[in-house]
Order: sequence, then structure tokens, then C-alpha cells
Amino acid sequence: MENFYPKIIIKRGKENSISRFHPWIFSGAIKNIDGSISDGDIAEVHSIDGRYLATGHYQTASIAVRIFSFNKANIDSSFWLSKISDAYNYRKSLGLTQLKDTNVFRLVNAEGDNLPGLIIDYYNGNIVIQTHSIGMSLLKQEFVLALQKIFGENLISVYDKSSETLPKENITTTNNKYLFGKLANTEALEHGNKFFIDWENGQKTGFYIDQRENRLLLTRFVKDKTVLNAFCYTGGFSVYALKAGAKEVHSVDASKHAIDLTNKNIAMNTNNEMCHKSFVADVFDFLQNTDTQYDIIILDPPAFAKHISAKHHAVQGYKRLNTEALKKINPGGILFTFSCSQAIDRRLFYNTILSAAINTGRRIKVIHHLSQPADHPVNIYHPEGEYLKGLVAYVE
Ligand code: SAH
Repeated sequence: MENFYPKIIIKRGKENSISRFHPWIFSGAIKNIDGSISDGDIAEVHSIDGRYLATGHYQTASIAVRIFSFNKANIDSSFWLSKISDAYNYRKSLGLTQLKDTNVFRLVNAEGDNLPGLIIDYYNGNIVIQTHSIGMSLLKQEFVLALQKIFGENLISVYDKSSETLPKENITTTNNKYLFGKLANTEALEHGNKFFIDWENGQKTGFYIDQRENRLLLTRFVKDKTVLNAFCYTGGFSVYALKAGAKEVHSVDASKHAIDLTNKNIAMNTNNEMCHKSFVADVFDFLQNTDTQYDIIILDPPAFAKHISAKHHAVQGYKRLNTEALKKINPGGILFTFSCSQAIDRRLFYNTILSAAINTGRRIKVIHHLSQPADHPVNIYHPEGEYLKGLVAYVE
């Protein structure tokens, strides 16, 4: 049976971004809405002269429509199954779904997978869904059905972790909960390293999967070195560094829970815990107060600019942080520095590190440009999806 959806008619000229497959329609582009509509409803977008343009989720917000299809379609269970299967098959083609030493990957990366508002992460048979739009939140059961079809008996649980990511007025009606299965098998492998994943109480979906390839790169540099992992969260970079033969690793995070998880992960992976120290501390204070000079420093702070309006302030924050870190690096040392602020683009981040270098007078060679991995794809028509950027710098 064919469904009929409310029609959103957009102003003349505003169809250009849709013809370039940009997945957002801002509220100012809407001329009128034909039919009654509620937040989270599926709607069809039409031009003023009645041409079908796209289908997406409506929400009373600045981004009023998030487009998930540019082809007229009946949006039913088989539609969602095919969307999630496309995302799975893409990860399969990357070789991520059948690795012996890695069973953690991002299965759905929102706009990057043509599913705006939806994040799905896979942890060794457990799946965490995080919805960022009401429309996607209403489809949770469809996603569970699709995941059951795709993973079959290997699916252990599906946990919905959307209470912090939905608009404020919807938060009260959304509790984080299991949509399928229950808490079990919380250990996962990344490049052969074991991690306890706390999707119930941890940040985001429980783990920063986006640093997987950058953690591996770190292992090339750490043998016999003294390493500082600043903003360590669950200690990803620390575990890799210790296992690759670092002499000493210090892990710093402001969150006590994060440091507890770091200690647990270090203990699961190494028997040389003597080489590791963890600190519950503000990184800025830590850098100012420590007497230790490091061979390698990793800086992976939270997004300083959550919004474009905070850009200037964020740049000052990155500059100060990197300046302090550069002062603590031994000659011949290495800085791994990141920004996950979408509002700070690659060029601006580079220039910010340049000003930190100028501040300290250190001679620096940029040796790697880093980004988010392939299971966090960026849709070329949605450049806003590129958020993680990093530099590896050799400090003379
Ligand atoms: N590098 C981590 C992810 C870092 S997420 C990984 O590979 O998993 C950012 C972390 O910074 C969070 O754990 C947060 O608790 C911590 N944090 C935020 N502000 C901080 C501050 N001022 N000082 C220390 N830690 C901070």
C-alpha cells in the first residue's frame, strides 16, 4: 500500500542545494506545508512548481528537514532494512566486519551514510543506537528488526542511548534502555587490544571508535618513550602505547569514571602496570604543574567549539593547550594533536598549531595529517560531516 506524506513546499531557488544532494533544509527555505505535520513525521519536499525533490524527517528546528532519500519511495520496513544493509555492506567491503583482531566499528554514521540523525555503533555483538532527530528516534523498532536480520544469532543486544542527544523537550520521554537483549559481553577488541566498553554510563556510545587508526599509528613512535595521553577517556592511546613498548605512560582525564575505565583497560592488556600512572585532573592544570618532560604527547580534547559562535574562543583554547604541551616535549619528541570541533576546519586547525609553535619558538615538522576513519565516512555533499582532524608533529 502506498503511503501519503505531508508535502513541504520550498521557496523558489532553494531547490539548488537539494539538487546537489545536501541533506538539510533550513526552516527559512520553507514556503508552506501542505497537510498537517508533527515533529518526527516523514515528509516529501516539493518545489514550488510541484516537482518531487526529496523525502526526509520534519522537526520544528533550524534544520527543519533531514533528507534520507532523493528518490520517491514507500518508506516501510524493507526501506529501512535496505538502508541499514547498505551501511553494513559498506563496512564489509572495508573488511571491518570479519576481522579477527577488531570487532568494534561504526555501522551507521548519520549523513555520511545518508541517514541524518542516526548513529549506530557495533561492539562485538552489542549495538548502541544514538538518535539525534525525533524522526529517527521514532524508528527504533525498525532498526532493531533490520539489525536482527543482518546479524542473526550473533546479535547480543541493542541499547538505545538517545536521552542526551535528542532535543531537550523530548529528553524527558526518552530513557536509555535495551531494545533487545541485555547487558552482556562488554569486552571488545581493537587491533588485538582489549577494551571494556561502558555504553550504559560512558560518554557518547561508550568508546571513541573514531581514533582507531590514529591509535595504531602512535605505536610506530612509542618504543622506550615517555608518553602523555591527555584527555585519555578510556585510555585507548595509553593501552596501545604500553603494548608497543613505551617506557612510561601517563593518562590524564578530568573525569574520575574515565580514569577508572582507563585503569581497568590497562590492567586487562598489560602486566606492566608499573609503567602506567593515571591522573584525575584538568589537562591545562596538569601541564602547568607537571615536572615531567615527555617524548610524546597526545592531545585529544573534547570539541571546544560546539557551535560556530564559539569558534574564536575555541581557537584560543587550542592555541593555549598546544602551547603548553609543546613546552613539555623533549627535543626530538612528537605531538599528536586533534580537534573534533566541526566548526574548526582543517586549515584553521593547522594555523592554530602554527601559532602555538610560534608562541614557543620550537622548530616543528608536520609529519602526518590525520582524520576520522573510513567507517565514519563523509558524504561529499555534506562537508559538515568532517569533524576529526589531527596533526602529528616532530618537535626538534
Ligand atoms: N582520546 C580519547 C577520547 C577523548 S574524549 C580516546 O581515545 O578514547 C575527551 C575527554 O576529555 C573526555 O574523556 C573528557 O572527560 C575529557 N576532558 C574534558 N575536558 C577536560 C579537561 N579540561 N581536562 C581533562 N580532561 C578533560
